[in-house]
Amino acid sequence: MPVQEEILHSPDRCRCCGTPFPADAPTKGYNGRYALDVVAPTSGSPGLEVRHTKHVYLQRQCSCGHWTHAEPGRCAENTDWQVELTEWHLAGPMLVALICALSLRQRVSRRGVQEFLADWLGVSLSIAAIHQCLHEAGRAVAPVIERDIVPLIREAELLHVDETGWKEGNQLLWLWVFTCTTATLFAIGRRSRRMLHKILGEAFVGWLMSDGFWAYRDYDRRLRCLAHLIRKAHGLDQSLDPLARPFGAATLALFEDLLQQVYQAREGPQPPADLYQKNRGKLDAFNDLCVDHWDCAHEKTRQLAREFTHDWEAIWAVLEFPRLPITNNWAEQALRHWVISRRISQGTRTEQGSLAFALLVSVIETCRKRGVSPWPYLAQVVQQRRKGEPAPVLPEPAPAP
Ligand SMILES: [Zn+2]
Repeated sequence: MPVQEEILHSPDRCRCCGTPFPADAPTKGYNGRYALDVVAPTSGSPGLEVRHTKHVYLQRQCSCGHWTHAEPGRCAENTDWQVELTEWHLAGPMLVALICALSLRQRVSRRGVQEFLADWLGVSLSIAAIHQCLHEAGRAVAPVIERDIVPLIREAELLHVDETGWKEGNQLLWLWVFTCTTATLFAIGRRSRRMLHKILGEAFVGWLMSDGFWAYRDYDRRLRCLAHLIRKAHGLDQSLDPLARPFGAATLALFEDLLQQVYQAREGPQPPADLYQKNRGKLDAFNDLCVDHWDCAHEKTRQLAREFTHDWEAIWAVLEFPRLPITNNWAEQALRHWVISRRISQGTRTEQGSLAFALLVSVIETCRKRGVSPWPYLAQVVQQRRKGEPAPVLPEPAPAP
């Protein structure tokens, strides 16, 4: 591919004594590198343009005798990462963002990305180089997650959390998602209390909407997704088992009655009446029914009865606070795309790969939640971080149309 542009970099001051070089100080070649990048379409210029640039690094001699040379940017070493974050890499920041978009949003395999770049852009990159771009982008955004996303998650008034199985090499792990109104955080790890505490901290005081995993019980203000419980009750109601059916039917009838009241309370005067107190009699009777089925011979009935008993407060919190959500749709929606990715890619292969994946996906989903495109931002982060500079702040939510 012909080089379209040559950019000269010369040192502006002596690295030994600090004396600035005069603008016309003589220079001598030191070394150089090639960079391939894409120029993203703008409203005035549609289409994707590829640019091949040669960067030449020059050196100058100071009156003190010392030779100083300009050099490509490089982020200080970080033992958490094997990949380097540096301008020495062939792929420019926007090309790195394009590779992330193809791989993560479009769910194209590494080989598919390679084929697409070669066939449509005339850019030939090795599989290893594509892999390196994804890891480098993951490393580049790591401080953004810590600085701009984690605090929003930990301080959220209402947080939806969910987890789904995830393969990392031969290990069975979990892909966790935490999402609030303005941010979404992903993490890959074990399904354990330690993992949960590592992310949420122990001081989380918001409402936590989750499934029935026991470690969530450490948090006081909990909500359960009622859609899941209703689905289970339906299953029992439809079964042929004489023990299951009446329990399923009673559960469904209670939900129908109470949810009707929740919807009405949302429309009615504020603050709404305490529906828990109002329905005390029905709830006490249902609690007795759950206790009666604690040792039920039918397994799924027994499990559901115990689930109600264990999570009683979390399940019925919405009666006291009817404005709170009754399903975990936010978290399920945030996971949906990545559940399909998992089917296609069979998960990630290494710990480093999982980390890069979770970090990038957190930035992508947070930008999507905010109604802004993640790609120009991602390119900007890679560009700044390769120079050793801090990452720019995540884009604010787009104004409502
Ligand atoms: Zn000098």
